[in-house]
Amino acid sequence: MALSAKDVRRRRGDAAAVAATHGSAPGGASPRRRRRRVVAAVAVALLVAAALAASRLAAPRGQGRWAVVHDGDGNTLALDLAEDQERRVETSLGYNVVVVEGGTVRVSDADCRGHDCVGQGRISEVGERVVCLPHRLWIEVCESPEGSGGPAGASAAAGGLDAVGG
Ligand SMILES: [Zn+2]
Repeated sequence: MALSAKDVRRRRGDAAAVAATHGSAPGGASPRRRRRRVVAAVAVALLVAAALAASRLAAPRGQGRWAVVHDGDGNTLALDLAEDQERRVETSLGYNVVVVEGGTVRVSDADCRGHDCVGQGRISEVGERVVCLPHRLWIEVCESPEGSGGPAGASAAAGGLDAVGG
């Protein structure tokens, strides 16, 4: 038992000595390989960390995303998800209170029956939607204030809504 432990120690010492004195000797290959493996592991860890950091930088709190509200009267209202805000959208069918908060959007209150739109909670990813069927109102998350394939005059329509609401 004691002998074998000594053997291992001696062998390790020999390998280290070989590696130190003759770098390219065949006996010194195993510590080198181990070192390469460690370098590879560190490189992978760094890459993963960098990828995580990049993905976080790419999407800070809803920047570059818009909540586009299409109401029952055919108007469109674009809300910047990077900006916390609350809008009461009033149409001939009723009202919905749309809240933008921390890069997400939701309906916080409405006078529709069932309050399904309120129950649908927050959305924040491009393509997600909240729908209020009784009010024929829907909100979508888009990369532009124009909405997904909607008319280009979305911001003009939003201005019109503001004028009516004010
Ligand atoms: Zn509703």
